[in-house]
Amino acid sequence: MPHDGVPFTEESMARFALLDRLRHPVWVFDIEARRVYWANPPALQVWEAASLDELCSRDMGQDMSDSVARRLQQYQSDFISHDMMFSETWTLYPNGHPRSLKVMFSGIRHQGRMLMLCEALGELQADPDTLRSAEALLHSPVFITLYQADGKALYRNPSAREQVLDPAECWQTRFVDPADLAALQQQLQAHGKGRLVARVLTRQGERWHEVSARHCRDAASGQPAVLVSEMDVSELKEAEARASYLAMHDILTGLPNRNFVQQHYPALLQQARAQNLEVALLCIDLDRFKNINDSLGHGFGDLLLVQMSERLKQLLAHGQQLARQGGDEFLLLLCAPQVKELAASLAAAIVESLGRPLWLHGQEVQLTASVGISLCADGAEDVQSHMRHADLAMYSAKEAGRNGVQFYDESMDARARSRLALEYEIRRGLENGEFEAFYQPRVDCFSGRIVGAEALARWRHPERGLLFPDSFIPASEESGLIRELDRQILAQVASQLANWQQQGRNLQVSVNLSASQFADPELPATLQQILQQSGCPAASIELEITESLLLAHDPHTMKTLAALQAMGFAIAIDDFGTGYSNLAYLQNYPLNTLKIDRSFISGLPQSSAIPELITSLCRILKLAMVAEGVETHAQLDWLREQGCQQYQGYLCSRPLSLRHFNELLEHGEEPPRSAV
Ligand code: C2E
Ligand code: CA
Ligand code: CA
Repeated sequence: MPHDGVPFTEESMARFALLDRLRHPVWVFDIEARRVYWANPPALQVWEAASLDELCSRDMGQDMSDSVARRLQQYQSDFISHDMMFSETWTLYPNGHPRSLKVMFSGIRHQGRMLMLCEALGELQADPDTLRSAEALLHSPVFITLYQADGKALYRNPSAREQVLDPAECWQTRFVDPADLAALQQQLQAHGKGRLVARVLTRQGERWHEVSARHCRDAASGQPAVLVSEMDVSELKEAEARASYLAMHDILTGLPNRNFVQQHYPALLQQARAQNLEVALLCIDLDRFKNINDSLGHGFGDLLLVQMSERLKQLLAHGQQLARQGGDEFLLLLCAPQVKELAASLAAAIVESLGRPLWLHGQEVQLTASVGISLCADGAEDVQSHMRHADLAMYSAKEAGRNGVQFYDESMDARARSRLALEYEIRRGLENGEFEAFYQPRVDCFSGRIVGAEALARWRHPERGLLFPDSFIPASEESGLIRELDRQILAQVASQLANWQQQGRNLQVSVNLSASQFADPELPATLQQILQQSGCPAASIELEITESLLLAHDPHTMKTLAALQAMGFAIAIDDFGTGYSNLAYLQNYPLNTLKIDRSFISGLPQSSAIPELITSLCRILKLAMVAEGVETHAQLDWLREQGCQQYQGYLCSRPLSLRHFNELLEHGEEPPRSAV
């Protein structure tokens, strides 16, 4: 009687009766129940069992390892799907004593279930080493297969059998990529052995295996054979792929990065040359992005970059290689038969698309971009010179007023050199104290009295004479030298204010602060030091900042402004009305003054809608208002009618050197223009 008491059917009775007569040990194992289901008398002897009932009652699952359990399940499904039969050396442990047997396994159907028929072919009398090595092979996680010369499998160890997709599979159909098989066969032919990492088909799908193969002979037949061992290295391979993805891509935007450009662009250029295609490299740079980053914070800047890169991606067709070169600079590689037209139209589309306003954190932001293009029709240029040319062209697009496109031409090299030279000269000029504050009077609209001034930087260049901000501010901003420039102007103004106070003159002077100076965490300390050294009270200085600084709503801006005001400085918003005006934010910040931009004043008194709006805004928010760039009496009259308190502009005076400004204060008269 079998262990679970299920009676034998007639058919199986006949089968088991037959087996019962065999002289070698035969037993039936129930894989699901993990018990012996039936055994003939020689098998009972092998198992050292007192009776069939006693053997069937043994729980074989008790100290069965996971891998053996998994393997048995595998066998069961192999029996079901392929009607498999195979032999293996097994070591049984009846009552704890090891017995190594060669066992033939096959499936046997019984009452709708698949059981395992085990026939012991003989006891292995081999020496302990042979037994151990057979056991090791049996349990090794390495997949070991012996193929005969035509590629048919002669033997698989259990691990190999467990993962093979189809037991009838031969060596030739194992590899996903036939080139891998060819490479391995070539190595075998040349050296008798070979090794590679390849994708292979397994029951778990495609996996990466490290495959080692060597020529040998089949120990049974003496025929030539190939012994193959495989290890699953998929996880390693995936980690490797992930690491190389990270090394080659920018995490923020998901675009290929600078490393990618350096590694892959040369091959892409070579490919283009081989296909007789022309090449264009576009360098795309966001305008004034540094200001945004400095004033609105890096988190905001990052979000903007992501949105901009999404816009770029949308414009591209397959095969057009976009990369983020770093910061706010993108590269686009185009290879096409007539690339110039394509590059020009894509560049125009890029400028248009990036220039469209977008909403971020509830506010509208508008950026523009400049694009430089390097063309090469004959493919003779290398990546480095392409990049340099595209970069130069991009800079010249910026110089031409930004928000536009330029193709590279040779004259740009010379300009780049002179730009570098300029930076060097500014540095030297700062060391030699060649920068000087000029003063443009701030005038009371009603009394006509000079109540203060705006300090504007001038460069007394030893060879080129007096230079205006447009020739040195952009280069100073880009090189970061602007912070030192701002500091020097502030220091001059502070010590001059202290002088005037000693003479009994009470003036307030405003000074321009660049966005990067404002973002500098050292700013309050720098200002404190200037006040201490000069003896000037903070209240005599007004700091002019640009509107964009306020957009951030970030804690840093608020903290800095509050700190500066607590120190006693007045704060003015410069060029008001030209930025991304969001009037609601004004009331959130500690401010003293709005300066209406010159562009609104020049239209007065005809176009007065915006100046009117700004004057009423100042009244509501109780901010002082200064009109910039007042040139005519008609403009001044309009401002008076509106109740604007102060103005600056040529109507009173241009910015003057200290000496001339002092003369103006003394005599109430601007010196002749030639004297400046
Ligand atoms: P801003 O702060 O808007 O300065 C006003 C500019 O308008 C000055 O040009 C001034 O000369 C000019 N201006 C004044 N009144 C009139 C007028 O009635 N008509 C016309 N057409 N123009 C007038 P400037 O001195 O060339 O300065 C240009 C810009 O350079 C300044 O614009 C400011 O943004 C920047 N800048 C000047 N000095 C400094 C400085 O020390 N630090 C920083 N960070 N920026 C500075
Ligand atoms: Ca200003
Ligand atoms: Ca201004």
